[in-house]
Amino acid sequence: MAKQFQAIRGMNDILPAEAAQWQRLETTVREVLAAYDYQEIRLPLVEKTELFARSIGEVTDIVEKEMYTFADRNGDSLTLRPEGTAGCVRACLEHGLLHNQTRRLWYAGPMFRYEKPQKGRYRQFHQVGAEAYGMAGPDIDAELICLSARLWRRLGLPEVSLQLNTLGSSAARAAYREQLVGYFTARLSELDEDSRRRLQTNPLRILDSKNPTMQAVIAEAPALLDHLDPESLAHFEELKALLDSAGIAYQVNPRLVRGLDYYSQTVFEWVTDTLGAQGAICAGGRYDGLITELGGSATGGIGFAMGLERLVAMLAAAGQPGADLTPHAYLITVGAAAQRLGLALAEQWRDQWPALRLRLNCGGGSFKSQFRRADHSSARFALILGEAEAETGTVAIKPLREAQAEQITLSQDQAAAWLRSAVLEQTP
Ligand code: ATP
Ligand code: MG
Repeated sequence: MAKQFQAIRGMNDILPAEAAQWQRLETTVREVLAAYDYQEIRLPLVEKTELFARSIGEVTDIVEKEMYTFADRNGDSLTLRPEGTAGCVRACLEHGLLHNQTRRLWYAGPMFRYEKPQKGRYRQFHQVGAEAYGMAGPDIDAELICLSARLWRRLGLPEVSLQLNTLGSSAARAAYREQLVGYFTARLSELDEDSRRRLQTNPLRILDSKNPTMQAVIAEAPALLDHLDPESLAHFEELKALLDSAGIAYQVNPRLVRGLDYYSQTVFEWVTDTLGAQGAICAGGRYDGLITELGGSATGGIGFAMGLERLVAMLAAAGQPGADLTPHAYLITVGAAAQRLGLALAEQWRDQWPALRLRLNCGGGSFKSQFRRADHSSARFALILGEAEAETGTVAIKPLREAQAEQITLSQDQAAAWLRSAVLEQTP
């Protein structure tokens, strides 16, 4: 029989079996962001549609066809956020966080895009993003790239590579745009339908086309790198020198343009071959024009966002262990007196060792069936509280994961401390 209700297509449940990978990823991300002194900002899932249209750009894939837009009850057009940068800049301007100061921020959470769901591409997906404001030079560009590189190292993901490009100043880009329109117009018959449309609206985005039949005409297009203004060129050269001195390998990819309008100068993308078609795990760039576009005074901005579903898939494929979430102990109680005592003792042990992960048998059962549940729980130890133990103030402890391990009996007061040292001894 078909299930009566199903999740919305492209919106996934993350089930308990997957939680260990997610938690390890999220913990590591937080630690690495803290190591560079980035501060967390939490932003609403919904913003005015106009905010995204203005910042991401009217003729981008996201705004043209991927947004979840709806009228709220008073008729305002609202949109589920498709990315985090627009909301982050909006919040910073609204609360005066960018006034004569620098800021390093990060956010995490679900994003929504009406895309064709497939492996690595969903309609609700999760990003962690980092954003830095008030710094115009390439030093902060290099820092963000170093931060992301450190994250891959910490996670144990060696099979990633960095693609780098610069989009130059907006004046240089405008001149280049003319050239590009001329070039593609001359080869109109080779363009697919999407690209013909973009030729009028956003010709740089043609370079971003993933259509295989378009790759030849794209490869021969004039390169923006050859039309850069001197300042952008100097910025790019210095960024490369900084990355060289930090030992970060990169590949300059003149076709890397990114799907959002707000980028200028530095753009980058971390990619992997291990995920099939959806190989981009992290993408970002500089967006100096966005802050004034949204009503702030001119100040530099740069950021990146990474896709957590793709990272979790990589971690699982690489056989990386997730966070250890298995219980340390399972408490078995036999008899009415022991059952009553069990709850109180479990609370006392959690007081004594707050990190203790203890599952208390609930729902009754014979000793045998409780012991079977203890085994299934993956707990390392069974704590056994029978009638005799309840009377004598003791608890029996049986290791469940070691062959030939002896059962021992301890006083109830000592059980938490004993477990703690046994667990710490086993954990490298
Ligand atoms: P793509 O070229 O794969 O569509 P994008 O350029 O649209 O990516 P960004 O908007 O830069 O992606 O988002 C940053 C990262 O978020 C991507 O590199 C990817 O890891 C992840 N991401 C983007 N869209 C999705 C999605 N629909 N499902 C899962 N992850 C996504
Ligand atoms: Mg996309």
